[in-house]
Amino acid sequence: MGVDNPLGDNIITTSLDSLVNWARKSSIWPMTFGLACCAIEMMATGAAKHDLDRFGIIFRASPRQADCIIIAGTVTKKMLPVIQTVYEQMPEPKWVVAMGACACSGGIFDTYSVVQGIDEALPVDVYIPGCPPRPEALLYGLMKLQDKIMKEKNSFGSSIGMGERLEPAA
Ligand code: SF4
Repeated sequence: MGVDNPLGDNIITTSLDSLVNWARKSSIWPMTFGLACCAIEMMATGAAKHDLDRFGIIFRASPRQADCIIIAGTVTKKMLPVIQTVYEQMPEPKWVVAMGACACSGGIFDTYSVVQGIDEALPVDVYIPGCPPRPEALLYGLMKLQDKIMKEKNSFGSSIGMGERLEPAA
C-alpha cells in the first residue's frame, strides 16, 4: 500500500549540489575573448540563427559579470598577460573554453610569438577542435561544459580563492 502524498507531483526532492549545478549550468555567462578568425564563428553562434540565449548562455563584455571565458583564436605571447588579468578578474566559480586549433594547441602557428595552447596558462575545461569550428561545434562544446558543471562537487562554506596566475611553459 502506497503512502498518500497530498502534494502530488508538486514537490521534488534533490541534493543541494544538483540544484546549484543546475542553476549554474543554466545561466553560463561567457566573457568573449575573440583573438582571430575563430571569433567570427563565436559571434555567429550568439546571433539569431543559433541563439545561445535559449540555453541561458549570454555573452558578457565584463569579466566581473562572467563565469566562463571563451578563448577564440590565436593567443600571442604579447596578449597572454591581458588574458590572464581578465581571467583573474572573473569571480569563482569559472570555466574556460578553448575554441579552435589555435587556442587548443597553437594551430598552424608554431612560431616564437604564439602560445602553443591556452592551457599553458589557464585551466581549460573544454577543447573545441577545428579551424575554425562551426557554430554547431561551439554549441556542442558548451553543452559538454554544462554536463561537466552538473557533475561538480561543491564545498559550500569553504573559502574559495582567486585563480592563481600561471606562467606559460618555456
Ligand atoms: Fe583562425 Fe583557424 Fe586559428 Fe581559428 S583555429 S583562429 S580559424 S587560424
